Amino acid sequence: MKIDAITIFPEYFAPLQLSLLGKAQESGLLSINVHDLRAHTTDVHHTVDDAPYGGGAGMVMLADVWGNAIDGVLHDDADLIILTPAGRRFDQQMAEELSHAKRLIFACGRYEGIDDRVREHYSQTQYADRNIRVREVSIGDYVLGGGEVAAMVMIESITRLVPGVLGNPLSLAEESHNEEGYLEYPNFTRPKEWRGLEVPDVLLSGNHGAIATWRSSQARERKDTNSN
Ligand code: SAM
Repeated sequence: MKIDAITIFPEYFAPLQLSLLGKAQESGLLSINVHDLRAHTTDVHHTVDDAPYGGGAGMVMLADVWGNAIDGVLHDDADLIILTPAGRRFDQQMAEELSHAKRLIFACGRYEGIDDRVREHYSQTQYADRNIRVREVSIGDYVLGGGEVAAMVMIESITRLVPGVLGNPLSLAEESHNEEGYLEYPNFTRPKEWRGLEVPDVLLSGNHGAIATWRSSQARERKDTNSN
């Protein structure tokens, strides 16, 4: 899978070099390239924004600069993800769907966001015919200062589903947020007793049937307590 992220703060993406994602890039399973939007400006001040038509607070990011940056990384068969709190809510099902994508491009907004003509332009038939899909995506119902953190949330949850990225693929079985809205049971490890708290006896019993029954009842209980 190839991933491009466009931002005015490329440094934000440094953590993607760590842990499993760092290893997956070293092994060639993933390629993640971060691009500085300001490299696509045409004036001496490297301007990326201007006041909104119609008035109002804040600044809007320039369609022209974004168009140049996106054109520089656009390939056939790609998903262009425009991050915005007004987008479709990201969830595990979307992560699963996008884990099969060949190429993901993340457009990270700042200020009041990106001139809407960028979304409109890349949604035209000439791009659809090249299998280029535009998605406006929100990672949740709150407003961040920029799309960088949102892009990293998406990249981490999507890429861990790409075969070979996780050391043990069985970790993906019985995970929280599957299609049935399952939430995983609580987990414990050594020691058996910690600060007066004991590991539930059933987990020490060696009785796999009883353990499975206990875990599914705990998972149901968690769903009742923690589901929004
Ligand atoms: N004025 C916009 C609004 O009310 O919808 C909010 C702009 S926000 C301050 C700046 C940028 O942060 C957005 O363009 C987007 O890229 C990113 N952003 C903020 N919240 C987000 C969220 N929940 N999901 C995805 N991206 C978000």
